[in-house]
Amino acid sequence: MSDENGIPLPPDLTEGAPSASQGIPSGIRSIKDLIDRVTGKHLGPLSPEGDAGLAEQWPYPFLALVGQLEMKLGLLLALVNPAVGGVLLIGPRGTGKTTAVRSLIDLLPSVKQSKCHYGCTEEDVELGGIDAICPDCAEKYARGEPLTSLRAVRLVELPLNARLEDVVGGVDERAAVHQRMRVRRGILSHADRNLLYVDEVNLLGDDVVDAILDAAAQGSYTVRRGAVSATYRARFTLVGTMNPEEGRLRPQILDRFGLRLLVRGLEGQDERLEAYRRARAYLTNPKQVVALFVDETLQARDEIEAAQALLPTVKLPDDVAQVGLELIQGLGIDSLRTEITLFEAARALAAADARTEVTPDDIRQVAPMALRLRRSVFMDQYFVDQKNEEEEIAVALGAMKAAEAAAPKADKAQKAKPRPRRAKKP
Ligand SMILES: [Zn+2]
Repeated sequence: MSDENGIPLPPDLTEGAPSASQGIPSGIRSIKDLIDRVTGKHLGPLSPEGDAGLAEQWPYPFLALVGQLEMKLGLLLALVNPAVGGVLLIGPRGTGKTTAVRSLIDLLPSVKQSKCHYGCTEEDVELGGIDAICPDCAEKYARGEPLTSLRAVRLVELPLNARLEDVVGGVDERAAVHQRMRVRRGILSHADRNLLYVDEVNLLGDDVVDAILDAAAQGSYTVRRGAVSATYRARFTLVGTMNPEEGRLRPQILDRFGLRLLVRGLEGQDERLEAYRRARAYLTNPKQVVALFVDETLQARDEIEAAQALLPTVKLPDDVAQVGLELIQGLGIDSLRTEITLFEAARALAAADARTEVTPDDIRQVAPMALRLRRSVFMDQYFVDQKNEEEEIAVALGAMKAAEAAAPKADKAQKAKPRPRRAKKP
């Protein structure tokens, strides 16, 4: 509930903002345009429904979030291009991180997903033969029936108290002999082709975090229990949150998140008041608030799918890439994941703006979310110390070379002989 109290909502709920009856603002040409321009609406008097329990079924509209432009843009870029490598929302409690992530539900595009409990797909057969799928699906496959269907990406939430067995799955002792069926699917395999939401990632156990990050990096994972093993696809977009007040995140975990979005409380009094009004309206009558934004929500979903379709054609010119590389080098960032996130986010931004070429401005706009919190104080110091040692080695090598050059030519013949063993130190 704490999030509902601090719901961030878009800026400029001022005069001139479109009212519900005016529908979608005209002249929108891309998702980025929509985000920049969808402003709030005058909510007007709401009929009290006294039915706040419905809130769960009516996610808060993403486009109704006040302010937090970076958070909104970052989340949408990850939807358009999963190659940005996941998103981490960093901020204190009550700034609406969870609300924002859950509000994505209505914007999620469609993908091909397995119809079967065990996650069998046609790809499994292509890669591993007919034994790679369960007997039911093998029959279907033989009959030429599809194993997958097109459906909207789901938001899979990792429960706060999830154990490793819940995450990767376990062995079902009562199941049939079929190898694959003996391993119960874990949350990670259910997250395949979906969004995996991990709240408070800094509070999770190391084993759970490692399993999630390994699966996210490889796109699959294998469960082994004695003689039984099964490999599942786990190609998901990871969205995590952390509250820095509640504990640090290991640097190697932080490095595995592509975009890092800072979520702060709203600053302006007008924004805060509007956020309060909307949160209150939503608690009173969620259906009505959702209805007010339904046109924009539908358009945004179409725009995201259009941006996804455009993405493969979006090019990153060499001179624009150079701008990004210089930024990374200038900041002394080592991780090679930085380039991937920076350039893929810039490509997503270009696609979201209905363009097929990345500009230096795209790089600049996504740079803060791709580059922040990449540097390690420890590694900086480590490399300073290491540089000193390298210099000592270079000096020693230089001295040796100088000595060789100064030595008489006659010595050359001797050098070919095996060196005498070094005398042991007393
Ligand atoms: Zn199956």
